[in-house]
Amino acid sequence: MKALFAHGAKDLRLSDCAAEALGPTDVRIRMERGGICGSDLHYFNHGGFGTVRLKEPMVLGHEVAGRVAEVGADVTGLTVGDLVAVSPSRPCGGCVECHRGLPNECLNMRFYGSAMPFPHIQGAFREEITVMASQCHVANDLTPAEAAMAEPLSVALHAVRRAGNLMGAKVLVTGCGPIGLLAILAARRAGAAQIIAVDITDTSLAMAAKVGADVTLNTMTNPNALAPFAMGKGTVDVLFECSGAAPALAGAIPALRPRGVIVQLGLSGDMSLPMMQITAKELELRGSFRFHEEFAVAVKLMGAGLIDVKPLITHEFAFDDFLTAFETANDRTQAIKVQLAFDA
Ligand SMILES: [Zn+2]
Ligand SMILES: [Zn+2]
Repeated sequence: MKALFAHGAKDLRLSDCAAEALGPTDVRIRMERGGICGSDLHYFNHGGFGTVRLKEPMVLGHEVAGRVAEVGADVTGLTVGDLVAVSPSRPCGGCVECHRGLPNECLNMRFYGSAMPFPHIQGAFREEITVMASQCHVANDLTPAEAAMAEPLSVALHAVRRAGNLMGAKVLVTGCGPIGLLAILAARRAGAAQIIAVDITDTSLAMAAKVGADVTLNTMTNPNALAPFAMGKGTVDVLFECSGAAPALAGAIPALRPRGVIVQLGLSGDMSLPMMQITAKELELRGSFRFHEEFAVAVKLMGAGLIDVKPLITHEFAFDDFLTAFETANDRTQAIKVQLAFDA
């Protein structure tokens, strides 16, 4: 069985990987689709992000869907042939954070394709994987490509829950990569009345408009584009900062109204903050990291046709073509979500 290992920056290799044993509560999945995420790109481009570095070869990938190929003796509710979205979130269930009801903050989290712990947690870009039945969410009413979007959609749904009530809210999204675009879809579903999307590429902004943003602003070509929203002390209720870029956050803060909420999703290292404005406008800064229970919600919302992620899936490559896939994903002027097809 082949898996895609990152050995370091710009060093991806398709190598053999041993199959894992099937326990009584496990399911063997024949992988169909896997989406390339920003974190996979960080490992590919730089060998890590922030203080997280690859210290040993690691299989990439955590946005996956496949077909049930074999079920353990004690598994119920899953049938061979079912299409399932596989949640990469594997909290321990026993630590203090799990007991507090914060499984995404689990002290012993084993999230696929993460170099945060050592030994690293191996990922899911492989032809077959053995998972716990509880990670599998039946998605027979979706295409494999849509099912593989459940993971990034869960990230956006978690962020919307962190934001609190969005009914009637004016929402600003900075950074319209896949997560920003999914945040637009999730915020709209949660009742946002006006959604303003900011990015520095027109391709991303065109997609933002396509998925429902009411206003799109290019702050590269027009650095003062947000000025009309900064009237008085600002007019925006909630900011979803999805770029991880300090200038995007700093540039958005004047547009936030007093007691507005900043939900920070973008992760690319530390940034400095305009603390005077945050303090004087009594802004609330909230982090948003991964998800857990939102995964089932993501599959449900897509299945019911309440969130349509299809426009975001712009490219698909055969597994062997992984290098072209990663290089395409790196090009924000043409790609939104690039997926690998393991069965191609
Ligand atoms: Zn991801
Ligand atoms: Zn735990």
